[in-house]
Amino acid sequence: MNAKRILGVGVVAVVAALAATGLWMSRGRDALLIVRESRPEAVMGTRTHLLAVVEADRDEEADEALQAAENELRNVELQMSRRIELSDVSKFNAAPAGQLVELAPQTVEVLRASRRLWEQSDGAFDVTIRPLILLWMQAGQDGAPPTAERLAAARDESRWPDMELRDGGAVKRKATAAVDLGGIAKGYGIDRAAEALRRAGCLGGLVDVGGDIRCFGRRRDGGAWHVAVRNPFRPETDAPLTLLAISDGAVCTSGNYERFTEIAGKRYSHILDPRTGLPADAAPSVTVVAPTATLADGWATALSVLGPEGLALLPRGAGVEAMIVAGTSDHYTIHATVGLRGLLVEPPAGVQWHGAPSRLPAGGR
Ligand code: ADP
Ligand code: MG
Repeated sequence: MNAKRILGVGVVAVVAALAATGLWMSRGRDALLIVRESRPEAVMGTRTHLLAVVEADRDEEADEALQAAENELRNVELQMSRRIELSDVSKFNAAPAGQLVELAPQTVEVLRASRRLWEQSDGAFDVTIRPLILLWMQAGQDGAPPTAERLAAARDESRWPDMELRDGGAVKRKATAAVDLGGIAKGYGIDRAAEALRRAGCLGGLVDVGGDIRCFGRRRDGGAWHVAVRNPFRPETDAPLTLLAISDGAVCTSGNYERFTEIAGKRYSHILDPRTGLPADAAPSVTVVAPTATLADGWATALSVLGPEGLALLPRGAGVEAMIVAGTSDHYTIHATVGLRGLLVEPPAGVQWHGAPSRLPAGGR
């Protein structure tokens, strides 16, 4: 099993332990609450699980909220999937240079967020590497990794300076410029879905798309949502590496080997290092907690490229925290930002903490 699937299983195990019937009831702080859930199929190519917490007599509203959240996920997929021919992304990638490609406001928003992440991550998160991704997909079919010349050529075909974002869309300066939003669109969809639940009046909710999660508000029993993070090297045991207690926020995981291409018996990550064009191998598993899933998803991919050194690049004061499992199954180390400590139900042993040391008053507590 892979880190992401395990994370999802962990969430289901913790959040839904009491959900035998799909309708659970509990006397919360002030009202009788129920939880409605749905598992829409074929969304973003993975498993999806939605939860809506409402007052007991509001079950119809909850079902409408779940439907609205599902619609948001499907809309984002329609706009941003590289596999859908009529998506904004496909339209942009196929467009010639020099003309405005009209894009939905959501697509422009995700491109803007992607560009900010590119700047903040020193180029480790880069949605303009589409030609490199195609090259590695081809390599998987050919059974041989691409040559250095072909990697360099693919890198030169598309970079951020080769495109310009405008309010209604984007303009390419080079016909070969192209984007792949696979490292951020799922997070954005999760955010839109969670906002739809909130807008529809849910007191609490959870959106889980393939183990990437956003949750908010009341849980059935009033406590924080618990999200399990598993050890990618010990998938055979059910014991999570740790549990995160999240009352309002997102948790996304990127696994270097959870999705990969196998070429001549060797595994290559689906995350590429934009600086070299080579598959990233800095961190087998990265989990990021952030106020939005857009940020958590993007940073999880960026830190997969950068490894523990990248923790220093996380935006300060923005509520973005991360945990990285680095090394190999024989010898691995866990790195985490100090800000994550307060979210861990029980920190795993031997964590190397990164960031400003917490200041204790002279003489200790
Ligand atoms: P998952 O789809 O499993 O959630 P990630 O969130 O880690 O995986 O995103 C990986 C996807 O991001 C890749 O399949 C590819 O589409 C895209 N990608 C790969 N490398 C990068 C990168 N360096 N920067 C931005 N996007 C990337
Ligand atoms: Mg992701």
